[in-house]
Amino acid sequence: MEQLNTTETNTTLEKKQSIYSLQLNELREWLKDHGEKPFRAEQIFDWLYKKRAIEFEEMSNLSKGLREQLANHFQITTLNTVIQQTSSDGTIKFLFELHDGYSIETVLMRHDYGNSVCVTTQVGCRIGCTFCASTLGGLKRHLEAGEIVAQVVKVQKALDESAERVSSVVIMGIGEPFDNYDNMLSFLKIINHENGLNIGARHITVSTSGIIPKIYQFADENMQINFAISLHAPNTELRTRLMPINKAYKLDDLMKAVRYYIDKTGRRVSFEYGLFGGVNDTVEHAEELAALIRGLKCHVNLIPVNYVPERDYVRTPKDKIFAFEKTLKNHGINVTIRREHGHDIDAACGQLRAKERKEETM
Ligand code: SAH
Repeated sequence: MEQLNTTETNTTLEKKQSIYSLQLNELREWLKDHGEKPFRAEQIFDWLYKKRAIEFEEMSNLSKGLREQLANHFQITTLNTVIQQTSSDGTIKFLFELHDGYSIETVLMRHDYGNSVCVTTQVGCRIGCTFCASTLGGLKRHLEAGEIVAQVVKVQKALDESAERVSSVVIMGIGEPFDNYDNMLSFLKIINHENGLNIGARHITVSTSGIIPKIYQFADENMQINFAISLHAPNTELRTRLMPINKAYKLDDLMKAVRYYIDKTGRRVSFEYGLFGGVNDTVEHAEELAALIRGLKCHVNLIPVNYVPERDYVRTPKDKIFAFEKTLKNHGINVTIRREHGHDIDAACGQLRAKERKEETM
């Protein structure tokens, strides 16, 4: 493992809005309101996302006056890299500091099909899943769209050094994306835009713990984004035990919302199912799960539990994982077992940040 503690932390982050928070049309509006030609927005996007400028000063095809106006109103990035760790399998984990001193984490995973970035949407989380490290300190605040965009740009800049590209994005870091819906949606539109990072909708995945009204809203956006639901249990009693959100948004209603999503978009959904030893991992649970999702256009992603010191869940033994998988397969269900990345660098959600917080309080 290689750890880089950057010196970049010297940059003072003032509280100015990040220009990464603006969608192209919002930037056009801003320019109009400031007496500038709207087409400058495309030029600015080009500087931000294609040339990946870090200062407005670099934007040489804009007038000096406009560059100054931009610099007075906005910052480009609002993230400082505190830690950048590379794992033996090529996974890179970033710990970023925000303007108010909070820290967030972002992970770059390498697959044979490309480089995938896992982004954070909130500082902490208020969903309270009983197995998850991200929720341990509660929710501190939502991230602004630009703070989410900046994570992808920072990772892309790190990849620029080896002429590689971020090819996909998963919104599966810290936080519940549907609890910060508007910022998440702006983020999606900015990274997806052809003048932005131009990451194809089919290469973006958003995952939710099941905030039902937002699932309907998201279905109606009609974007071609991949959609995952953290299910983790085949019945409502067990789901409530694992995920308290199931008290407010019950499994039956969740399944209705998922059906609506599939009907509306024609797209397949993914169910994330964490295997927690002795809790939800028997063949009977697999049978119950198969019955629950029968006939749905879906895929199941089995996640062997990531050990979290504060939580006492244990791993399901390999043979039981395979038995679970086989049971689903026998029912004709598409199923995969999640490959693990960056085991030596605390790459599971919230772990690096949790460790950092603990060290802070020691
Ligand atoms: N809040 C969103 C996005 C997080 S995605 C959501 O809940 O979907 C991260 C995924 O990892 C979720 O499916 C989450 O439930 C799962 N997860 C969290 N902690 C885990 C752990 N200790 N072991 C296995 N999976 C875990």
